[in-house]
Order: sequence, then structure tokens, then C-alpha cells
Amino acid sequence: MGCSCKGNTLSTRTSCLECVEKHVGAATVLIGEVLNGYPYRLLAIGHLHEAEEESDTWPALRMVIRQARVRYQNNNTAPNWKRIHEMIVNIDPSRHGEVIMTRPDYLI
Ligand SMILES: [Zn+2]
Repeated sequence: MGCSCKGNTLSTRTSCLECVEKHVGAATVLIGEVLNGYPYRLLAIGHLHEAEEESDTWPALRMVIRQARVRYQNNNTAPNWKRIHEMIVNIDPSRHGEVIMTRPDYLI
């Protein structure tokens, strides 16, 4: 079974690192947009939640993403994108790349 991103409609909640990366990437963009005054807070929270759900196979990654979401919801503190990215790369080294976000722990 695979996730829905591969066209498999039998299960929409099988862990998929590609989808984790996709939702984390979306949240990165959206939280950056919140910083610029756009009303995307709920969308960003939703994407972080989706990333949580898609990372069920990797409990440490799931926990870090969950903690990041809860922290963002409670304190408006942006996730530590670099840490999350490093965990993804640790699972799949082919997903290496530079994290553009330069202020991982800023307050919004
Ligand atoms: Zn997927």
C-alpha cells in the first residue's frame, strides 16, 4: 500500500517521506508568508499536521514535527526547519539540500 500521492486510493494514511517533505515544505513557505502579513497561519498548522500523519513510520520525526506544530500554535514560534530537514535526510540521504530558512527559531 502507498499514500495517495502515488495514486493509491486504498489508503490515504500510509507513511510517505515524500509527502512529509511536501507538507513540511508547504508549512515553511506559509509560515514565511505569515511573517509577511499574509493570513496563512491555519494553513501552515494544517500542513504541519499532515506531515505528522505522514511520518507515522518514523516516530522520532513524527514527535519533532508534532512538537513544532504545538509550539507554533501555542507560542507562534516557527519550527526548527533545519532540524526537521536533517531528520528527513537521515532517513533518506537522497533528500539532502540546503535549508534556505536562515532564522529557524525566530518568534513571529
Ligand atoms: Zn506520498
